[in-house]
Order: sequence, then structure tokens, then C-alpha cells
Amino acid sequence: MTRVGWEVESAVKALSKKDCVAALDLLAEAYPQAACALNYHSLFELITAVVLSAQTTDKSVNLVTPELFARYPGAAEMADADETELEDILRRIGMYRTKAKNIRLMAQALRDEHGGEPPDSFDELVKLPGVGRKSANVVLSVGFGHQRIAVDTHVFRIANKVGFCHERDVLKTELALMRQIPENRWTEAHHSLIFHGRNCCFAKKPDCGRCVINGYCMSFGGSNAARS
Ligand code: SF4
Repeated sequence: MTRVGWEVESAVKALSKKDCVAALDLLAEAYPQAACALNYHSLFELITAVVLSAQTTDKSVNLVTPELFARYPGAAEMADADETELEDILRRIGMYRTKAKNIRLMAQALRDEHGGEPPDSFDELVKLPGVGRKSANVVLSVGFGHQRIAVDTHVFRIANKVGFCHERDVLKTELALMRQIPENRWTEAHHSLIFHGRNCCFAKKPDCGRCVINGYCMSFGGSNAARS
């Protein structure tokens, strides 16, 4: 049976922890500005923007949130929002109907159970409507300053392409990255990999020739360490 690329990749060993750190150093140098690209002014705005960003770009979320937050500045206001009005504001982003419902229900839960603010707790965050593991990790890292690796589509793709790990699902990738990367660099790694995905390691056609970590990337031909 012909083996496909993914099977070949998953059969090889992951990069050493030392090479992971060396690759991260190069990414940090290439993207010193790597940070959350969502616009927000409060924890409530952050969690709302994060929920809206599911399966859509941060850029498109930033286009709708100024009007959204001007109309509904906090959980109390959004909890009582008219869902049709919310849908009108969110119309330009994907899955806007589901998201309108989710942010209203989330705002109700925040108002009724958390004093209007997102809780500083993973277990409590993932109980909120529309908040999954990835979103909770983003809120904890960006909003509360905890070290977290939120695995989105870029992080999943690049981590497994480069060989930070070789996993087939998002949770296993998150856990593997936590083992491979020093804890004080988890949040930075998350942002760097996202920036790399947006600027070079594109899903359809990665620009490997000008990639700063191509010397470590197992999809490009193995790590520096493996070749030396
Ligand atoms: S070498 Fe290519 S596949 Fe590997 S990380 Fe760089 S752009 Fe992505």
C-alpha cells in the first residue's frame, strides 16, 4: 500500500527538546511582535472576541467587535441582548447565528455565576457556552498571564510538520508540546507558531525556501541535529 506523507511523518521521531528550543529561538527572533491579534479592552471583551474567532480570522473578528462592544460593553448588557440584533452585527463572520447565541448565553452565565467577569479557572471557563479547550487556554494565557499552549489550526499543523511532535489530534498535540517546550515558553510558542502560520508556513503552500526554521523542519528534510 502506498504511504501518504502524513504516515511517513508520523513514523519518525520528534525533534529533541534542545532542537525545539533552538527553533523557538529563531521564531522569536523572526516574530518579536507575536501576540494576540484580537482587539479588546477588558477580559469580557477578550473572551467574547475569542469565542467569535472560532473558525474565522482574528482580522474579521476585529471588524465586527467595535460596534458589538459599543452596543454591549459588558456581560450584563450582552446577556439581555436581542439575538437578531446580535446576528446583524456579527453577519460578516462565519457561523454568526451560532456565535450570536453562544455569546449571549455566555454573557448570561458570566453575569449570573461569575460577577460579569471571566473566571481565572480552566474548569470553569470550559463550562461556558462557546468556550472550548483552545479558547479557555487563550483566555488564561492572554487574559490572566498563565503559561498555556492553545492549539489552533496553525499550531496543530506547524507543530506536526516541523516535528515538535507527531500527533493526530489537537489534545495530544497540546500535551506533547507541553512536554517538549519549557513551561515558561508555552504562551510564546503558541503566538510564534500562529505568526509563522500566517506569514510563512501556509497551509496550502508553505514558503519553505525563506523559512527561518527550515533547518529544523522534518517536513523540509530533517533537523540540523539529524543532519550533523
Ligand atoms: S520548512 Fe516549510 S513546512 Fe517546515 S516550518 Fe518552514 S515553511 Fe513550514
